[in-house]
Amino acid sequence: MNIEQRLLTVNPFSRPGKGLQTARGIVIHWVKNPGTTALQNRNYFEGLKNQSLNNPKAVFASAHFVVGLAGEVIQCLPPDEMAYHVGAKVYTPEALSRLGHYPNNCTIGIELCHPAWDGKFTPETWMSAVELAAYFARLSGLDPLKDIWRHYDVTLKDCPKYFIEHPEAFERFKLDVNIEKGENPEGEQE
Ligand SMILES: [Zn+2]
Repeated sequence: MNIEQRLLTVNPFSRPGKGLQTARGIVIHWVKNPGTTALQNRNYFEGLKNQSLNNPKAVFASAHFVVGLAGEVIQCLPPDEMAYHVGAKVYTPEALSRLGHYPNNCTIGIELCHPAWDGKFTPETWMSAVELAAYFARLSGLDPLKDIWRHYDVTLKDCPKYFIEHPEAFERFKLDVNIEKGENPEGEQE
């Protein structure tokens, strides 16, 4: 897995420059924009810096990584900085009890690209996402079977659609991460 670092400019809307506590979870998202590339989605986050702070409808959004349709991985934020990927007015009871009152400050956000509106991921995206999640599970001592969340599990948002409509696929994803974590204890990152 190659990770291309394209860090966002520090700005209030997508890279607040605040520290992330030790990661207590990994949150999986879909980009909800079929056919777009990892770079396009990263550039969307970057473009948010051009908003006015006076705009009441300003969008705050980002994620640490975007995994593209060909399995390419773009890193948008250092993993020890907070991203705006899972904020909400209300959190699920499980998220509140295990991730606290503001899960952005203790979770790694991974956005996955998808070819179509059904949200299904390509095998290449799946494989890179498994490797990436396994890497952070090792790094932070997380249990892939318990500590990988769908965005939906944290806030009930309809994200990632395919893993909500196909919960068995999400279970398989977590199992794949668990296997990868066990089989590749040293990692193969650059
Ligand atoms: Zn999401």
